[in-house]
Amino acid sequence: MELQHQKIRQNMAQLLLEWYKIHARVLPFRTHSTPYRVWISEIMLQQTRVSAALEHYARFMQELPTIQHLAECPEEKLLKLWEGLGYYSRARNLQKSAKIIMEEHGGELPADYQQLLALPGIGEYTAGAIGSISFGLPVAAVDGNVLRVFARLYNDDRNILQPQTKKDFSKRVLDCMPKNTPGDYNQALMDLGAMVCVPNGNPQCLICPLQSVCLAFSAGTTTDLPTKTPPKPRTIQKITVLMVQNAQGQYLLEKRSNNGLLAGLWQPVLVEQDISAELSMEFLKNRGVSVEFLKAGKGAKHIFSHIEWHMKSWCFVAKENSVVEYPLAWVTKSQLQQEYSLPGAFKVYKQQMLKEKKL
Ligand code: SF4
Repeated sequence: MELQHQKIRQNMAQLLLEWYKIHARVLPFRTHSTPYRVWISEIMLQQTRVSAALEHYARFMQELPTIQHLAECPEEKLLKLWEGLGYYSRARNLQKSAKIIMEEHGGELPADYQQLLALPGIGEYTAGAIGSISFGLPVAAVDGNVLRVFARLYNDDRNILQPQTKKDFSKRVLDCMPKNTPGDYNQALMDLGAMVCVPNGNPQCLICPLQSVCLAFSAGTTTDLPTKTPPKPRTIQKITVLMVQNAQGQYLLEKRSNNGLLAGLWQPVLVEQDISAELSMEFLKNRGVSVEFLKAGKGAKHIFSHIEWHMKSWCFVAKENSVVEYPLAWVTKSQLQQEYSLPGAFKVYKQQMLKEKKL
């Protein structure tokens, strides 16, 4: 076994880098690469498809081209720029870090792994990516893609969700790393995991540059790896969404509390249980808004990492010009488009508010 491992250590980086020279993905933060652009792109790409991240990335960089712009951006604008990407704590952590960078690092991301790691929202993977790509530091950037590649490369069936496995695999990633091109090596691994050694039992071994050194390929176990503990089943939560429009065509929105799921974001008024239209009217009245029932509205489902929302909706018209107080607000269509950020969970309802003249 040791001989096989030695063969991987000696050959894989060269094979990988030759492949990367030809097949590297063309991404905007690579063609014009700065530490700031690498940082923003790496945070956006976590838990988000590349295509969705790219759309947001261009707008984000246009509005906030420097760390100073990010540090000084009003929170509502920042959340609006993040709208649709989910996991909004990432945006808030970006701003917290930007403020620290302005105050403690002279406005530049530090070229030091430990100092990067100390910034809010920057974990080992992101510190490794920024450190290696932007500053040439010989540090690993190990995410789920890289763990999958290494599980197969070493034909190692240990559970990749266990911290010890991650630690051991990270050591292997470092052992194979050419110390003069750590950034290219880490990016090549990311690209190989995204395009060739792909998940769900479907690796493209026939076009893989690492086939000649891959132990899972020789053993015929590529589709069995990596080993992961199956995720716990998600809790299902019933939600009733209350769509309310007033005589001026404005919609009633509410800002969520600053803690917990979707903290501090805007949403239609909702009740976190399945309730009737009558009870919904009672509920709204207690919040100071008298309404008339209009119709049953659309249903929707949204999946978070540990919970699934099964939503139904009721549509109402406000009886009189009721003045509401924060955290409630009457919002026009253009405000909804330009100022208020509604999380992706309410996509169906946002579309309804934007498209339909009346509910
Ligand atoms: Fe992954 Fe197949 Fe390449 Fe091995 S040969 S690294 S399993 S794509």
